[in-house]
Amino acid sequence: MPYDLVIIGSGPGGYSAAVRAGQYGLKTAIVEKDAKLGGTCLHVGCIPTKALLHTADVWEYFKHADEEGIHCEKPSLDYPKVIERKNKIVSKHAKGVEGLMKKNKVEPVRGYATLKGKGRIEVRSEQGTQTLETKNVIIATGSEARMLPGLKPDADTILTNIEILNLTVIPKTMAILGAGAVGVEFASIFNRFGTQVTLLEMLPRIVPVEDEEVSKELERVFRKSGIRVETGAKAEDIQNTGGGVTLKVTLANGKQEHIQAEKLLVAIGRKPNTDGIGLEGTAVQLDRGFINVNERQQTGEPGVYAIGDVVAGTPQLAHVATMQGMVAVADIAGKPVKPVNRNRIPGATYTEPGIGSVGLTEAQARAQGHKVRVGKFPFMANSRASILGNHAGFVKVVAEEEYGEILGVHIIGPSGFELISEAVAVMESEGTVETMMSTIHAHPTLYEAVGEAFNAVYGLAINV
Ligand SMILES: Cc1cc2nc3c(=O)[nH]c(=O)nc-3n(C[C@H](O)[C@H](O)[C@H](O)COP(=O)(O)OP(=O)(O)OC[C@H]3O[C@@H](n4cnc5c(N)ncnc54)[C@H](O)[C@@H]3O)c2cc1C
Repeated sequence: MPYDLVIIGSGPGGYSAAVRAGQYGLKTAIVEKDAKLGGTCLHVGCIPTKALLHTADVWEYFKHADEEGIHCEKPSLDYPKVIERKNKIVSKHAKGVEGLMKKNKVEPVRGYATLKGKGRIEVRSEQGTQTLETKNVIIATGSEARMLPGLKPDADTILTNIEILNLTVIPKTMAILGAGAVGVEFASIFNRFGTQVTLLEMLPRIVPVEDEEVSKELERVFRKSGIRVETGAKAEDIQNTGGGVTLKVTLANGKQEHIQAEKLLVAIGRKPNTDGIGLEGTAVQLDRGFINVNERQQTGEPGVYAIGDVVAGTPQLAHVATMQGMVAVADIAGKPVKPVNRNRIPGATYTEPGIGSVGLTEAQARAQGHKVRVGKFPFMANSRASILGNHAGFVKVVAEEEYGEILGVHIIGPSGFELISEAVAVMESEGTVETMMSTIHAHPTLYEAVGEAFNAVYGLAINV
């Protein structure tokens, strides 16, 4: 009996799709080349980084405990224990994913999967080679860190998101190449753990996909907290010197500088895993290695779907992978399909201050010809932020002038990555600025700042 569905890759895209397929009663297998299910997100991405970021938050509280009237005698950081805690969280959730496969009658298959002609998947492992017959395939093979030509990661000095998570000693100095979400999150972690961090970004601003004002605010706070930020900077001639690394950097003002650091983190983007999985000879269309899909996540090859980090044109985020999985499985099972709306995907960056955003930035809205009204509310004027001792940042609403349509919401501030959910929900239910102005927010909460930013669209914020 052939499978109804074989999923290649068990990241948040693949394993969630497998659960949904099981719920719909599809005979499903999930193939994973690594020892444990869960993918990048669980093992070397979202979860371990957020575990470390949480510890950095707690450590920060201890360092400034005096301000709260709590005296801690010489608090110290036991980094191996920090790593042990992070590993425990990852293991717990990896077991959880195994459990979900069992509960939903999904068959896990270990090995490296390759498409081998219509409805055939070859799986190679140390145990040998087997062929799975299937009516449908979902490619959810994810991505890996991009490297500069000629540069190779190693366990000690030149690091990607994988090796950096296994360090057992906090480095004294670190250079980070790339100030997208991955680069700034590690900068935020290690800066707070006491590493002297230099953040190098080739583009004119850090977190370049965010609204310009958000980039500016994060850069301001980063600099204030001691991170050296160099935008418009080009690094070349990177040398592993044994005990560290040197980089020749051309700064934005044209000056050249040799920067030395104990460690270098390369965080210049993620390359889709689409080589060597048998796409040649199929009708699957690639765009610079990413897979082109339609709104049902179908590739050009009948019965072959793609979701997650391998997909062209959608952001590489776990929740995007998951929702695309829901779309693909609904299509396979003949259920109603609601395609992923590009403009309602929240972005979340877990720096301090945290970032959450959805929809168009102000510049994008203006470039698309919208008549824009902007409302902005600073956390400085929010009482909950005062209680938390965390005043950086603001909530910014980008709205259409005529009908109060919400085009985008951009938050930087305490728990910005949590607060954004409210904006996503109101946009998804097609609420307007007025809907949010009459939504009652509990007091005192950080959410009041969100409500106030909507009031500010019409100059009606109360607390500024
Ligand atoms: C440091 C870091 C932090 C991140 N933090 C966040 C965050 O906070 N929030 C967020 O939304 N996103 C975050 N991301 C991005 C997120 O991890 C990815 O978007 C997400 O993992 C993509 O899911 P996926 O299912 O497409 O692929 P992946 O999670 O990459 O999983 C793909 C799986 O497929 C397997 N595989 C590949 N090829 C084959 C093959 N031929 N045969 C069998 N198995 C195969 C791989 O081993 C892997 O397990 C982060 C990424 C990094 C690197």
